[in-house]
Amino acid sequence: MVELLLLFPPQWSPFQPALSVPSLSAWLRRAGYEVRGLDLNVSFYEWLLSDECAELLIDLNAKSDRSAHEQVGYEAIFRRAADFRHDVSNLTGLGPDPEGLSQGDYLKIHYLAVKSLETYLRAVSDVCQGFVISPYEFQLKAGNLNAAELDRQLASPPPLLAEFVRAAIAEHVRPVAPEVIGLSCIGQDQLFFSLLLGSMLKKAGVSAPILVGGTILARSFERGALPRRWFSTCFDVIVRNEGEKPCERMLANLRAGRPLVEDVPGVVYLEGERIASTVPAPPLSVEELPVPDFDDSPLGQYLSAEITLPLLSSRGCYWGKCEFCHHGMVYGDKYQAYDAELVAATVTALSEKYGARHFAFNDEAIPPRLVRALGRLLPPHESSGWDFTGLIKFERSFTREDFSNLHRIGFRSLYVGLESASERVLALMKKNNKKETLVRNLRDATEVGIWMHCFLFFGFPGETEADAQETYDFVVENADIISSFGSATFALEHNAPIYHHLEDFRLEIRPITKDDVDVYYEYAVGDGISPERATEWMQKVNDAAFDIPQYNAAGWVPRELQLCLLSVMSPERLVELGLRIRESSGLPPEATLPEIVSRCRHDEEGRCLAVSRVLGKVYGFRGNVEEAFHIAHDTAIDVESLRRWGSLLFERFAYSSEVLSSDAVMSPVPAPL
Ligand code: SF4
Repeated sequence: MVELLLLFPPQWSPFQPALSVPSLSAWLRRAGYEVRGLDLNVSFYEWLLSDECAELLIDLNAKSDRSAHEQVGYEAIFRRAADFRHDVSNLTGLGPDPEGLSQGDYLKIHYLAVKSLETYLRAVSDVCQGFVISPYEFQLKAGNLNAAELDRQLASPPPLLAEFVRAAIAEHVRPVAPEVIGLSCIGQDQLFFSLLLGSMLKKAGVSAPILVGGTILARSFERGALPRRWFSTCFDVIVRNEGEKPCERMLANLRAGRPLVEDVPGVVYLEGERIASTVPAPPLSVEELPVPDFDDSPLGQYLSAEITLPLLSSRGCYWGKCEFCHHGMVYGDKYQAYDAELVAATVTALSEKYGARHFAFNDEAIPPRLVRALGRLLPPHESSGWDFTGLIKFERSFTREDFSNLHRIGFRSLYVGLESASERVLALMKKNNKKETLVRNLRDATEVGIWMHCFLFFGFPGETEADAQETYDFVVENADIISSFGSATFALEHNAPIYHHLEDFRLEIRPITKDDVDVYYEYAVGDGISPERATEWMQKVNDAAFDIPQYNAAGWVPRELQLCLLSVMSPERLVELGLRIRESSGLPPEATLPEIVSRCRHDEEGRCLAVSRVLGKVYGFRGNVEEAFHIAHDTAIDVESLRRWGSLLFERFAYSSEVLSSDAVMSPVPAPL
C-alpha cells in the first residue's frame, strides 16, 4: 500500500531530474514509509512527442481558425512527430561512451535534438494557442500568476493539458490508490499544473488529501496573497520550506488515526473559514539527511546523452548577505555545509547505485572551504570518470590552484553571480566583490579549462547609467574569460533583505495590477535607472553578445546539457564547433538533408511538403525544385555539399534566409541561434 504518492508536475527542465522528490523519498523511506515518486514533467514532454498527442494536435489544428495554408503546414509537422522523436532519441541513445563518434558528430546530435524539440514545441504552442511550452518554460497566454485568471483556466483548461492530466490520473494515481498525494511545486512555471492536477484529482473524486510542497505556494501565503478558495478545491495542506519533518509527522498521524495536521510543524491549512499555519519546522541538519533516492526517477527518460544527478554540498548560502536574494528561505535561512567526506561518500553512492558520472551541485554557492577540500579529496577525473558543475561566489581567497584542483577532479563548468561589474553597485547589493577579484577568478578558472557562466542583472536600485555601462563594457571586453552569461533585470522579491528596508533604496512597491500570486513585486526606483531602462540595458548587452563569436557559438546549449558536452570536449572545442554551425547558417555542415528535413506526403494542391525540423518552416515544392529536393533527400546529401551544389535548396533550409521563399507554407518566427 502506497502511503504517499509524490508527483512532480510540469514544467521543469526535461534534461535532468530535480532533487526535491528524491530527497524527500529517501527521508521518508528511511523512516519506514511506503512512498512512490513520479516525474510527470518528463512524462509530459514524452507525451507531447507521442503519436497519440500528435493526433489530438492534428484535430485541434483542423478545428482552429487558422488559414487553410497554415493548417497544412502545422499538420505536416505533427504527421512527422516520429522524426522529431527520432532526433531526441538520437540524443538519449548516445549513452556514456558513444564509440567511434567524433566530437563534431556528438555536438551535431545535441544540436539537432535541441532544435528539433524547440521546433516541435513551438508548433504545439502555436496550435494550442492558450499556452506556450518550450524546453525552458511554460506560460499561460493569459498569465501564470493572476489568481482570477488561474481560476478561469482551471474551470476550462486548455484541452491538451486536461487530456494529459486526465490520463495521468487514470494511469498513475487511481491504480496506486495512495493514502496521501504530494505535489512538488518548486518553480513558478509549475504553479498552474500543480493547481490543475489538484483540482482534477478532486473533481475525479480522489479522496486522498493533497499536500503541496516547494516554495511557490508557501511564498504566496507569506505574502498574504494565497486565495482561500484553493484549499479543498485544489489542495488541502501547504508544506512550507523543507518538507521532510512535516511529511513524516503527517504520515505518522495517518497511521495512528489522528487528524492529518495534528502537531505538525511548517504547514498551512484551512481551519473552518480561516487559513491557519503552524510554527516552522526546525531546519534539517546535514548529518541527518540520507543520500537522495532516485529509484523512482526514470533516469533513461531525461532528454540527455547521459544522466546528470543533482546533489548538495551545503544548505543555504554561506554569504547570505545579498540584498536582492531570498534563496536561503527554503532552509529556514540557516546555513550548513556538509563535510567533504560526506559529499564524497554521496557522490560515490550515487555513482555506484545509478552508474551516474555527471553531477550538478545545486548549492546556492559551494562554500570556499569545500571548494578546497573537495579539490583535494575527490579522485582525479581520469580515475573516477566523474564530471561536475556547480555554483560559486567570486572570492578574493580563490587561487589558481583551487580552480586547477576543481578541474582535476572533473569540474567542467561553474556558474557564478557576477550581478554587476560596478564595485559601487556590488557594494550597494552587499555582494562586495572587487573587479580585480572578478577578473582574477574568471581568468584562473578559464585558463585551467573550466567553462565560466556569469549571471548578471541591470537595474539594482541606485544603479546609474555609468554603472550599467561598466557592466556592459565588462561583458563585451572580457569574452576571453567569460564563457557565457545570462542577463536579467532586478526583481524585488517578497522577504528578500532589501524588502525590509525599501526606504534606504528609495524603492516603492507599485500597486498589484495583475500578478497577485507572484512572489515578486512591481516597483519604482527613486534613484538610478528605471526598470524600463534596465530592460533596455539587458537587451543591449544581449544584442552585443550576438556579434561576439565566443558568446553566440554555444548560446543554443541548454544549461543542463552543457556538462555532457564539456565532458567530451574542451571549452575551446565547443566554441569552435559551435561557430562552424553558425557559419554554416545554423546547419551542422556534416548533417545530411534527411537529418534536418522531413519529407511529407503531397498536399491537395499537389505540392510535396518538406518540414525543416531545425528551422521550423514547412515548404511545398513542385516542378524542378521538387525533383531536386527528392534527389538531394534520396542521396542524403550533406549540408556542406548542398551549400555548394544546391544553393537554391540550401537557402531555403538555412537560418540566414531573411526573405521567406514563396513556397514557405508555415513560417513561425525562428528562434535566434
Ligand atoms: S546571491 Fe548568491 S552569494 Fe548572494 S546571498 Fe544569494 S546565494 Fe548567497
